[in-house]
Amino acid sequence: MARGDVRNICFHGIGTPGRTIDDDEARYWITADEYLRILDEIATWPATVVSFDDGNASDVEIGLPGLLERGLTATFFVLAGRLDTPGSLTSQQVAGLGAAGMRVGSHGMDHVSWRAMTAEVRRRELVEARDVIAAVAGEVTEAALPRGQYDRGTLRSLRELGYTAVHTSDRRLATDGAWLRPRFSVTRHDTPQTLVQAALVPPPVHRRVALEAKGLLKRWR
Ligand SMILES: [Zn+2]
Repeated sequence: MARGDVRNICFHGIGTPGRTIDDDEARYWITADEYLRILDEIATWPATVVSFDDGNASDVEIGLPGLLERGLTATFFVLAGRLDTPGSLTSQQVAGLGAAGMRVGSHGMDHVSWRAMTAEVRRRELVEARDVIAAVAGEVTEAALPRGQYDRGTLRSLRELGYTAVHTSDRRLATDGAWLRPRFSVTRHDTPQTLVQAALVPPPVHRRVALEAKGLLKRWR
């Protein structure tokens, strides 16, 4: 394992969704038991960073207690447009995350792709959403890409707007302190063992090169 490698593990929903979700989202919902088994595993890993996307109510109902019991922390990437709606985190819950030792970032407003944004969408997703979340949680400097989608324009906008870190879903190791941070999103097909294989066992060199090339392509198209 190369020096400076960081494993970023991202959760979405845990248990039963409290709102209607589509098939694409359903893929990222796991049971509470599986969540705790995975946390027990990754709690033993070096340089591992946990995050939650989408601002589901289960982040605080199930995710947070599991973290606190293990002395772990996480960044919660909240959707500004879903705050205080059924099945999602309340403003009050988000406001309390800091006191619990957690960090809060932006996942935008409406969970739409950040590729090829119009000026209007860019403003709503990258500026207004950050303002809404900052009003409840304090300063927000990091973002996670909705649906993991981005292009060169997305990254340029995020840089111009002063985001200090951007979290992708590119399923490869990240470099400590890098601005663009790939993450492994946990799906319902994952187990502690599949995550060990994906994130802890170093991939063969040819696969690593292929994954890095894929990331490079995304950044340049
Ligand atoms: Zn999302």
